[in-house]
Amino acid sequence: MSEPTSHSSPIIHRVIVHFAMEAEAAGIARRFVMGAESPLHPALPARVRTQQVGAVELIHCTNGIDSQHGVDRIGLESAATTAWALLSAYKPCIYINAGTCGGFAGRGGAIGRSYLGGRAFLMHDHRVPLPGFQAQAEARIPAEHYPALERQLGIDSGPVSSGSSLDATPQELEFFEQEQVVAKDMEATAIASVTRDWGVPFLAIKTVTDLVDHPEPSHEQFLRNLASSSAHLTDLLSELIGFLGQGVSLTRLRGVETEPSADS
Ligand code: SAH
Repeated sequence: MSEPTSHSSPIIHRVIVHFAMEAEAAGIARRFVMGAESPLHPALPARVRTQQVGAVELIHCTNGIDSQHGVDRIGLESAATTAWALLSAYKPCIYINAGTCGGFAGRGGAIGRSYLGGRAFLMHDHRVPLPGFQAQAEARIPAEHYPALERQLGIDSGPVSSGSSLDATPQELEFFEQEQVVAKDMEATAIASVTRDWGVPFLAIKTVTDLVDHPEPSHEQFLRNLASSSAHLTDLLSELIGFLGQGVSLTRLRGVETEPSADS
């Protein structure tokens, strides 16, 4: 039997939502009354919960707790290894990386404001001044566009840049200006690179906990705003998951079915 379809592409029936931190992830697990978590893979601390939400099987995953340091496994390495293991265990129709980020007041950013990753996924702290390798170090993975989703959620999109530090060097601040970055995080670009290898559509949704272009250190802003920004993220993601649960296609998310085709 063929897949149920809406408009011109199959209905999205399985969605991964991957978080780095428990504080970012707990709200969605509660909201959708998800069951007990189980280990993703024996060699990883990552935890998975699943739940059927309307038309969609929701796969909810956190990187888990680092056994040596006792904190959430944030950062590029855990993001990439968890993403690879998740993709080999569950082939989703779309992969969502949800979390918090640093924002930029100079580009309209504010605490609690959310963005979809758009234009490109970048790396801002990988410096390899060798021919060809600098471009690879900066990643610049093209972002898929979901204009219908932006409209549905009422949020903007823009470049996301990932790296391994919460603070930023003057050189990195220059990079953010040049690239017009709207969200600075520690996971999205690593996951974009893995989903690209797997050929799985990717979407990042990020809520601002701290303003990178503000004199107060990022970590102080982050700790003060983590709970409230995570609550905003939960509300937005619930709306997104509820929308997907109605049975929508990727074509519909991208909003292209309403546009006339070039050759008609
Ligand atoms: N000390 C904190 C560490 C959080 S690090 C704690 O454990 O409580 C920040 C996390 O939030 C990362 O997963 C990252 O993706 C996101 N993040 C929020 N603001 C950020 C910023 N300004 N720069 C980089 N990552 C940021």
